[in-house]
Amino acid sequence: MIREIEVKSALTKSGLRELDYSLNPYLGCRFSCSYCYARYFSPREVGERWGEVILVKKNLLEVLRKEVKVKRKGVVGISTITDPYQPVERNFRLTRESLKLLLEGGFRVSIQTKSPLVLRDLDILTRYRERVDVGVTVTTMSPEEARQIEPLAPLPQARIETLKELKENGVEVWMFLGPVIPGHNFFGVLEEAGKIGVRVIYDVFNYYPGLPFRSVSKNTWKQLEEQIRKMCEELGVQCHSEQEDWIYETKRRYNTLF
Ligand code: SF4
Repeated sequence: MIREIEVKSALTKSGLRELDYSLNPYLGCRFSCSYCYARYFSPREVGERWGEVILVKKNLLEVLRKEVKVKRKGVVGISTITDPYQPVERNFRLTRESLKLLLEGGFRVSIQTKSPLVLRDLDILTRYRERVDVGVTVTTMSPEEARQIEPLAPLPQARIETLKELKENGVEVWMFLGPVIPGHNFFGVLEEAGKIGVRVIYDVFNYYPGLPFRSVSKNTWKQLEEQIRKMCEELGVQCHSEQEDWIYETKRRYNTLF
């Protein structure tokens, strides 16, 4: 079910230190990943029927148009709660139009998605490539595992192709390996990152009651992290955990643009 809503603000202050603002054109996400904890930060009807109810911010562009004129320039994460290129974007195009407004207005944009639909916006991404980066999430290279945990999201190979095409077009890309789920084929993901030559940000699975996986213990995570780092080294892949200061440094570097 798709329902349109009105909002009072478009850019919200981000809780992530590498970002200044978050922009979420949609609430709810059709990709329906089983590990997704965005449901706990969403309106009740969206969270309870995760993947089935999508709220579209119908006046988002009107509000954003005003905000880009008055807000301090900075880095905007699109999206931080749900996927900005989920199927509803095909018709509503709020992500595309927001991108234009932000980039024309002098902001920097950091996108994260699982969808090849981002390639539709290559014209904008390449025009402003010095102020854009795109992260594509890949949690496993096994289509069977992906179907179990990310039932309606594009398959892993399609995401790899997306990364390749973005990179070939000169767009700054990164791969998000997260959450790392023990027993899943995430080493295959790192191999693909090595072949394309993209940096990887990895992250642990965050457990919330009701989600189908258990948190890993500190020790298990330490071991997994060691394995990931070792493999990255062997493959020549630049690899960072989400918590590392390196991302913050990236933001600091970009802030010198403003
Ligand atoms: S694509 Fe992202 S936001 Fe959408 S359900 Fe999956 S994890 Fe959640």
